[in-house]
Parts: sequence; structure tokens; C-alpha cells
Amino acid sequence: MKAWLNSKEFLTFGKNYSSLYLSSCFRNAGNSFFYLMSQQQFVDVILPLPLGQFTYAVPEEFNDQVSQGKRVIVQFGKRKLYSALIVKTHFNKPAQFEAKFIENVLDESPVVVPIQFTFWQWIANYYMCTEGEVYKAALPSGLKMESQSTVFLNNAEASYPDLSPTEDLICQFLLNRQIATIEELIKAIGKDSLKYIHKLLSRNIIRIEEKIDSNYQPRKEAFISLSEEYNTEQKLQEVFLLIKRARKQEQVLMEFLHLSHFSSPSALKEISRQELLIKTHGAQAALSVLLKKKILVQEEKEVNRLTSEEGNPDELKSLNDAQQKAFYEVKASFDQHPVVLLHGVTSSGKTEIYMHLIKEYMDRGLQVLYLLPEIGLTTQITTRLQNVFGKLTGIYHSRFSDNERVETWNRVLAFADHKPNAYQLILGARSALFLPFSKLGLIIVDEEHETSYKQFDPAPRYHARDAAILLAHLCGAKTLLGTATPSIESYYNAQSGKYGFVELSSRYLNLELPATVIADTRDAYKRKLMQGHLTPALYESIEAALSNNQQVILFQNRRGFAPFIQCKACGWIPQCPHCDVSLTYHKNTNSLNCHYCGYSTALPHLCHTCHSEDLETKGFGTEKIEEEVKILFPEAKVGRMDLDTTRKKKAFENIIFDFEQHKIDILIGTQMITKGLDFENVSLVGILNADNLFNFPDFRATERSFQLIAQVSGRAGRKHGQGKVIIQTATPDHPVLSFILKNDYIGMYKSQLSERHQFQFPPFFRLIVFTLRHRDQTRLNRAAGQFASLLKKAFGNRVLGPQDAVISRMQSYYQKTIWLKTERQLPPSQVKKLINSKISLIKNIPENSTLQIIADVDPN
Ligand code: ADP
Ligand code: ZN
Ligand code: ZN
Repeated sequence: MKAWLNSKEFLTFGKNYSSLYLSSCFRNAGNSFFYLMSQQQFVDVILPLPLGQFTYAVPEEFNDQVSQGKRVIVQFGKRKLYSALIVKTHFNKPAQFEAKFIENVLDESPVVVPIQFTFWQWIANYYMCTEGEVYKAALPSGLKMESQSTVFLNNAEASYPDLSPTEDLICQFLLNRQIATIEELIKAIGKDSLKYIHKLLSRNIIRIEEKIDSNYQPRKEAFISLSEEYNTEQKLQEVFLLIKRARKQEQVLMEFLHLSHFSSPSALKEISRQELLIKTHGAQAALSVLLKKKILVQEEKEVNRLTSEEGNPDELKSLNDAQQKAFYEVKASFDQHPVVLLHGVTSSGKTEIYMHLIKEYMDRGLQVLYLLPEIGLTTQITTRLQNVFGKLTGIYHSRFSDNERVETWNRVLAFADHKPNAYQLILGARSALFLPFSKLGLIIVDEEHETSYKQFDPAPRYHARDAAILLAHLCGAKTLLGTATPSIESYYNAQSGKYGFVELSSRYLNLELPATVIADTRDAYKRKLMQGHLTPALYESIEAALSNNQQVILFQNRRGFAPFIQCKACGWIPQCPHCDVSLTYHKNTNSLNCHYCGYSTALPHLCHTCHSEDLETKGFGTEKIEEEVKILFPEAKVGRMDLDTTRKKKAFENIIFDFEQHKIDILIGTQMITKGLDFENVSLVGILNADNLFNFPDFRATERSFQLIAQVSGRAGRKHGQGKVIIQTATPDHPVLSFILKNDYIGMYKSQLSERHQFQFPPFFRLIVFTLRHRDQTRLNRAAGQFASLLKKAFGNRVLGPQDAVISRMQSYYQKTIWLKTERQLPPSQVKKLINSKISLIKNIPENSTLQIIADVDPN
């Protein structure tokens, strides 16, 4: 990478060289100005910070090592080191500043592929954030690395008689340990030690270095094999004679030979130490002796954490006629369109169609990405995919440890080089979009309508479905959107011919969709017929289902026991001190919790205003339903699936598995249980309070209610006869219910489309919602006014607001929102350029220095 210049070229390039560089040339070359020299190389990098790109200089020794996609260590800020990613190498010296040198190059080959940079840039531009924020979200933290300062003693021999006791302690500690991180010192000696570290530093007794640790530790496992020396029948017989009286050793060796297929030497295997110990009931001592005698050999090896089984293509189910037809239509449609929407009713076998498609793309040597909106859903689909595609399948989402994610990253990367353990198929949540695919052929976005595809916080606030379409476009791949209840946007795109469209309107096995019944809660309350929060209709249906040994799902879109508590005497409702919301009562922990900031406090016994003891719970969440149902149906086994019961890594799997195995009769849950899950034996679904859904203050409330109810209903009657759905509501004549009763998606779609048109909402207009946040309400109000008027100058009456956010204070920040609706025809990039210029203007006003402006592009 060295480029040599002759004098003439140097003169023409001369302008680009700073005086510093020139002076160093003179220094290096003495007086001979026309001495030949190497040209300074630079790299543009992205740091894992909410910033754009930065330019660093490359020391000559690294000139041949830097290239796009490799990570380098750079200093940024005073003492901080970061691993930064090279976007570009070049020879253009920055004009405005003196570029620092990179410290080191971390990678031998790129960890990020070229398309990813284009993709990230698109995300940063479209969703209005920095490339640094995308980089942060994209790479597992094991690849980003943390910087940890390490402290060393400069001279271990020297003694310093005048040290203070704490200084002495620090030196002793370092003498024993040789090195320690600042964190370790603080832990051992106390917070105070920081001050003394500074003193020791200034006296040059110690030094500090930024040590960069890779967080990634490949998993190692011990393997046992037979030593070369004894690897013959005869030698082994001698060994057995030798250890004849040591029964335990004999047993271990026998077991080893059995497990390692000694009888067929071509298949001779190493055995995991752990497996051998399990099979021999923990014969550690005997194994140690065999190792000591060098009959067996132990070796540490890196292992893959994930599947190692071969798949079996025969596990692919053959499609029925309707599915086969849809399958061909999807393929034909791909000839015309990069994106196809598959609208198939619940349990029509969309997943089976995906699997057939996946196989075709994989047979062509291409990679496939299968996106799901919710981690809980991956459990069931994982098994279905791995049965067919085995170890070519990788799973990627936030519940995996960082090590596992790094491993998956590397195995996706390895596909480009045909490495044996590379992943060709990835099943994942939205973050899987950021994996380093090099030969992507197909992306499946299952349950494409799901709101959880949109990342809300932190930036990048991207919509995984839309980003998937863009990524596929960059890779020349196809995108299949699948759902029983399309988003209005996707259906509109299909209707207008932008997307291909395929329909599958019958359930597999031709089962009827469940029969839906509306249960009027107002009437039942009035006539005092409610049992807890169950109407007679729901109560009796649960009873019937249980007596037929069938399972029940109850859906309530609120977690906790009660959304709030209230003083009966004066009406006081406990509020979160940091947010403008009431606190939710959780009975399990006997606490009041804020669902927005995590604040938690013990349940009060007295009203804080009038000191009355008469506090009552209001409304109901999943926890309360669980309690009631356990009392009403004491024989039934009851389970609950919501955020509170699924925090642990394996919690989803366990609950889903228990329900599959019918260890649970009644499963109560939030929207987590509505999506895509496939249980054979559920005959009844109860929706406890549909009004929660309709009355949500959002232009999408009708669409969302329809989708949620249709989805949760879709869990009933999937294998053994028609299911039943009971919807409890206090507004039985709500218009959305009539669409639901008739399963009339098109009717709902048309009614919504005309409303959206009239009120200028998506899909006709693009929406950006700005949230402004500040701790000081007056400043916030002023800044919001200023920003709105700047926007209005540029966009006129497309700007609405400012108005208080739905939650006007959150985490001690006051919040206001401003909406911007732009016509689809306006080029998004220009709109954003204009907005960014206004944001800079506002941010440059000194009193707005701590103002936050968050842009949510295409919000949910
Ligand atoms: P969807 O994704 O449309 O909700 P699934 O693919 O989960 O539907 O199918 C519902 C159930 O029917 C699953 O248990 C699935 O295994 C089964 N099924 C669907 N199609 C077939 C088929 N062609 N052969 C055998 N079983 C099928
Ligand atoms: Zn009171
Ligand atoms: Zn709060």
C-alpha cells in the first residue's frame, strides 16, 4: 500500500500536506526536500458512539494491514480507547484537523462485509441517527470490545518510604498482582483509591494503560482420545491385563471404547470428557489415572455452542393442494416483484410454505434469513427448521449470550468462504438483519404486521420489515412478507401492484376458523353474573373445555395485578415520582411498579393524602386473572406468560414446552401469546377486555385491535375440530367487532383506508414524530415552540403541534411531541436534510444544550 511520489507530483499535491507533515519530512530527510517519501495513509472509521465517521492516520507499519471492514483500536477523547471499524482507506489528509494515528489493527480479515456499510448508511439516513448508533446496534458487544484501564507498577524493585498508607496499599496490591484494572483496585481498596492512583501517577510510580479485552471467549471443552501408542487391538489387550484389578479404570476404558466405536476404527471418535464421566457415573479418579498412564489423552478444544445435528430433508412435509398452489404463485410472483405478500389465514400452513422456499434457495447455494417479531416464537420454529436443515441453521436474538452471538456472527461470515460450519439459514429477531450475509437470496418476514418489528429505543429506531426489504434489495434477494392480518401499508402496496400478492384462504386440514362470540360485560356486571372478571359465557366455556380435556388461552393486555390502586375515601392514586403515570400493583412482589422507568416501591398501607386505610385495586392485569382462575377452577393447572414470567433465558421455552406437553390447562398471557404459536389442543380462546384495545389513543387502534384479536383467535382449533373465541367487551357494538365476527379483513381495510386518506395518515402520508425532552418544563415548552415554528416555515401545515406527549413526563424528563406528515412523493432524503438543518439550529441555541430531540420515522 505504499505509494511513492516524485518531486513533481509532490508539488502538485503539496497543498494537501499540513505544515506538521512537511516539517516531519524535513526532519526525516534533512535538507533534501526532494527526497522520496511514502504518502500518508488515512482511514475513515465508525466508533461505537452516537457520532458519524472520523478520520485517523495510519502508521506506516500498518499500511498493508488496514482495509474496509477490519477493526482498529483508536484513541478518542482523553484516555479512552475504542475499537473502531474501517469504512474506507484513502490518502486525503483532513483539512480541518490533525488526524490522530490508529493504535493497532485488530483483525486479519474483515468482520463486516461491504453491503453492510451501505445498509447501515441507509438506516442512519432514513431513520435519522448516526452511523455510530447503527454500528453499536449491529455488532454484538464481544466484537466491539470494552476498554478497561490497567495499572502497572513502574519499578517493582524500588521502595518509596514516604507513601501514605493507602498509596502503600495500592503498591503492595500491584506488587502481588503485577497488574490490576482500576476497577479491581477500587473493589479491593475502596473508592478513595482513585485519588491516590492519581498521586502515584503524577510521581511516576505507576503507569496506566488502556488494555483492550476481547469479551469473546470461544467455548472450550475437554475431549478424550486413545493415545497413539495403544491404538491397536494387541496393545489394548496388554493394557487390560495391566489394569485388571483396577475395576473402575477398566470400566472407564470399556465405556470409552464403546462410545468411540473402537470396533470400527475408521469411525474412531474423540469423546467429550463430560459425556464419558456421565456414562461412568463420575469416575473422575479412574479417568485421571488412565490419563496419567498416558493410555488416554485429554485435549481442550473449541466447540460450537449451537446445533451439530445433520438435518433431514425428508422431514419436509409435502404440501397440500392449496399450499402447493400458493407456493408456485409466490415463486411466479418473485419473477415480477422483489417483494411478495403472502396473506394466509392462521394455521393455513404458511410456515410449511416458507420451509419449501427456504430449501429451494439453499439448494441454490444462497443464504436465507427468517425473521420473527418475538423471541418467544423462535422456540417452536427452531425445532421445525432444525429437523430439516440441521446444523446449517443458526438462531440469533438478544437472549443469546454475547459469546454465542459472536459465534453466530462468525459463522454467517464464514459462509462466503465455504467453511464447513458456516450458517446458511438464520432464524432471528430484528437484530439478525445486521449479520454479515454475503450471499443472501431470500428474507422471510413472518407476521409482517407485528408492531414489535419497530425498534423503539434506543436509536436506530428502524422498522425491521422495511429495513429487510432494503437489505434484500441491496443483496439482490427476494423478500416474502407473511401474515394472516397484513398491515394496512403492506396490503396497500400489494393492492397497488408494488408488491406481489398471494392468498391462502383455507386452514390446513380445512378446519373452520374458530366461532366467535361476543360477551357483554356491562350487562353481566349489572345482573351480577360475573365470576371475578369472567362473564358466564366465558366461565361455562372454560368449564366445558376442561371437562373435554382441552386447553384454554386467556388474553389480557396488561401485566401485573392491577393497573393502579386508589383511596376509597379521597380518590388518591399513587403516581410514579419520575413519570406522569400511575403505578401498577404487582402482588407477587407486593409492590407498586412503574412500567416506564422501572421505579418500584412497597405497597402503601395508608393513603398518602388522607391517611385512610381503605385502598382498593382498580382494573386487572394477568396476575389477577391468574389468581381468580386458580380459585374458580381449582383442579386446573394454570400458567402465565408475560414480561414478568419470561425474564429468564429459558423461560419462554419452559412455558411453551409445558403447554405443549399439556402440563398447563389454562395459559394466561399478554400479547406474547397471540403470535404465531402452534398448539394442537387449544379449543378455547378468551379475550378478557377488548375495550383496552379499541380505546387506545392511536390512529392504528382499529387495525391493531383487528390484528390482535384475529391472531389470538387463530391459536384456537388448529388440529382437532373447530375452536371457539369469546370476546368480552363493554361496547359490543364497536364497529371493529363486526369485521372481526365476519372475519372480514377487506372490510376493515377499506374502512381504514378511507379514514387514513381523509386524515392524511400512512399509507398515503409519511409520518415522523419528534419527541422533545428536557428536565425543565419551561425550557422544553420554549424549545418545542421554536422547533415547531422552524419546521412550519419549511413544511407549512404538514406540521402539527407541539402537544404534550401521551406520557407528559417520563424518567424525570418532560416530553412534548411534534408531528410531521409529508406526502409520499416528497423524497425522504430531502425531507430529512431539511429537518436536520432545523435540528442543528435549535441545538445551537445555548439554552437548548441539554435538550433531546428524538425523531421517530414511520412510528408504530
Ligand atoms: P401458519 O404458519 O399459517 O399459522 P403452520 O405452518 O404453523 O400455519 O401450520 C399449522 C399446523 O399445521 C402446523 O402444526 C403444521 O405442522 C401443520 N401443517 C401445515 N401444513 C401441513 C402439511 N402440508 N403437512 C403436514 N402438516 C401440516
Ligand atoms: Zn385518601
Ligand atoms: Zn416511572
